Amino acid sequence: MTALLEVEDLRVAYGKIEAVKGISFTVEAGQVVTLIGTNGAGKTTTLRTLSGLLKPLAGKITFDGQPLNGVPAHKIVERGLAHSPEGRRLFPRLTIAENLQLGAFLRKDTAGIEEDIQRIYDLFPILGERRKQASGTLSGGEQQMLAMGRALMSRPKLLMLDEPSMGLSPIMMQKIMETIEELRTQGMTILLVEQNAQAALSLADQGHVMEIGKVVLSDSGETLLHDESVRKAYLGED
Ligand code: ATP
Repeated sequence: MTALLEVEDLRVAYGKIEAVKGISFTVEAGQVVTLIGTNGAGKTTTLRTLSGLLKPLAGKITFDGQPLNGVPAHKIVERGLAHSPEGRRLFPRLTIAENLQLGAFLRKDTAGIEEDIQRIYDLFPILGERRKQASGTLSGGEQQMLAMGRALMSRPKLLMLDEPSMGLSPIMMQKIMETIEELRTQGMTILLVEQNAQAALSLADQGHVMEIGKVVLSDSGETLLHDESVRKAYLGED
């Protein structure tokens, strides 16, 4: 089986500083794959490069059988790769409904868009209840739901989530993780970047541990969750 996403020897630099130093991994259709690691390991840089927001120094990215190198960001969304960025990046003065509509900016099928907005409200009922409210007035957890919903509005084949649990209460975080699980059940493929290694590994099929620009360990989520070095470095155990 060929992977939905294949990253080979990817290198990305900011000027002279190499943030990603030759990483390789794959994401199979239907899987949840997570990148974990400390601050500055290069996880966000990796997602931004896959989205076409940063240009790689070297390496090959193949998505759905086609190369992604050199493809502009909006075309990458069109091909089916959506990104829910770190910090959410919503339009605070726009309503929930308007933010969701913006996630469908490349689509013209009005009926389909309305159907999908309804599906997002089914997934996150609170968003439906508050659809006319400005997104800037939502709680952190609700904003995260909206950021995920907006990314889903492009009908992606692969959804990339950058730190969805950031700044959330344990209950909200639990809710977001349950939603990721539910999306997987619906057949969505997910690439998840998380600081919360415990939560991410608990639901991931595959995990990759990143340290200063490199993947230092790759295994199933289950195996990494029980790996002694991972537990010491990322799960706060002695
Ligand atoms: P975090 O969880 O803190 O976002 P991360 O694993 O996602 O960490 P990146 O944000 O990808 O890490 O950062 C990787 C490295 O690149 C870091 O050393 C960071 O300081 C550097 N870096 C990130 N963005 C820029 C930028 N715009 N200009 C210069 N250096 C940057």
